[in-house]
Amino acid sequence: MAVYNPKSLKAEEFIHDGEILATIEYAEANKNNIELIDEILEKARPKKDGNGLVCKGLTHREASVLLACDIPEKVEEIYKIAEEIKLAFYGNRIVMFAPLYLSNYCVNGCLYCPYHFKNKHITRKKLTQEEVKAEVIALQDMGHKRLAIEAGEDPVNNPIEYILECIKTIYSINHKNGAIRRVNVNIAATTVENYRKLKDAGIGTYILFQETYHKESYLKLHPTGPKHDYDYHTEAMDRAMEGGIDDVGLGVLFGLETYKYEFAGLIMHAEHLEAVHGVGPHTISVPRLKRADDIDPDEFDNSLADDKFEKIIACIRLAVPYTGMIISTRENEKVRERVLRLGISQISGGSRTSVGGYTEEERPHDSEQFDVSDQRSLDEVVKWLMDNGHIPSFCTACYREGRTGDRFMSFCKSGQILNFCHPNALMTLTEYLVDYASEETKRVGFALIEKELEKIPRERTKEIAKEHIEDIKNSNSRDFRF
Ligand code: SAM
Repeated sequence: MAVYNPKSLKAEEFIHDGEILATIEYAEANKNNIELIDEILEKARPKKDGNGLVCKGLTHREASVLLACDIPEKVEEIYKIAEEIKLAFYGNRIVMFAPLYLSNYCVNGCLYCPYHFKNKHITRKKLTQEEVKAEVIALQDMGHKRLAIEAGEDPVNNPIEYILECIKTIYSINHKNGAIRRVNVNIAATTVENYRKLKDAGIGTYILFQETYHKESYLKLHPTGPKHDYDYHTEAMDRAMEGGIDDVGLGVLFGLETYKYEFAGLIMHAEHLEAVHGVGPHTISVPRLKRADDIDPDEFDNSLADDKFEKIIACIRLAVPYTGMIISTRENEKVRERVLRLGISQISGGSRTSVGGYTEEERPHDSEQFDVSDQRSLDEVVKWLMDNGHIPSFCTACYREGRTGDRFMSFCKSGQILNFCHPNALMTLTEYLVDYASEETKRVGFALIEKELEKIPRERTKEIAKEHIEDIKNSNSRDFRF
């Protein structure tokens, strides 16, 4: 019998089924325990210390109690604290990225994914290096600086050498003032040796969605192919960190299993990384199952309503306050607007989820991974964010300045974000406005930048940021960063 142990490197011990079930039971038993709920809320609240605001976070049990609680005033309190944490550590900045689909060849049999190998009517495509170049130029011409590359698992068609070659191509392209400065990677679980190769190729975050933490369901949902191995998949982040990757991104695909189980599993996974490696996940993604070629989400029993989805995001924000949270174009404008306030710090914009989609005039559907709900252009998303009081940021400075892993976390905790991330966001937004934005977006953006520059606490930093912004406007000088 496996015993729960967050420090163990064995999947069944750090994602311990018995502990998750006991957590759900504990949460259910205490969902009206006002005294306990108030104590948990108090623990989650940002507090002042010498450097500014700090947060303690919550354990998986504490966070699960909040998730189970349906008392309206307490739920409002959860949302309020989530907003406070968001503002304390991320301010009103939202980091922008786009996915780049390299290949949809896949040998796995995942029941929810249109890339599953039995799907004979999806068009199979794999980008050549020339095609990668064309896609990257199209993405640079939109204004993107940060990509998440995506590929199916296929050791013959998409071996690690192919992924590495694509990363090299992506980083090598400078079209006009464009550059991709950070490539995050979302590919199947692999070996320590391959993670080391990805690290050496200069990747940002390694992202891998657990899909579901529930082992029995996982085995059924992944009936064939290498992804069937639950332990190998669940232990991937430990191998990635062993291979030298500091920043890893977790996520579950909501809709496959019950959300309470997934939530507890996700927070336990974060606790495990912290316990073993001294640093939690860099990001958490919250994808929901979507309609896709050969995939009908109604065939899955655990679809998640918007209000529960929002509550999950807020509870994650309270539990792991220093972890970035990502939302994709799987979600529509309305949902995105709401969850941005509750803790989301990164969003994609102008995305195409088909292989080679960015170079097509019309949005192609024949090789799409999922239906895109937010189909607006990047310019529309950028303007919408600003209209809603956010600063779209194209910043990639942290990992290029060595602020990764625990260094990033202590940077966050030392209250330096307003002196670094804030000016970096304003300078990269200026680049976007000058090089790519429509006239209307420019107008809104420059007014916002003027106002936001005044929030930089250190006078010298403010002056330098203003000088760089003038340089960007009046020359081709780019890529300033603190
Ligand atoms: N092949 C890689 C792996 O096995 O982890 C990852 C790449 S896959 C392109 C990225 C993610 O898309 C998957 O991890 C899954 O969570 C998500 N996905 C698959 N089918 C989906 C669907 N129908 N709706 C929403 N997301 C889906």
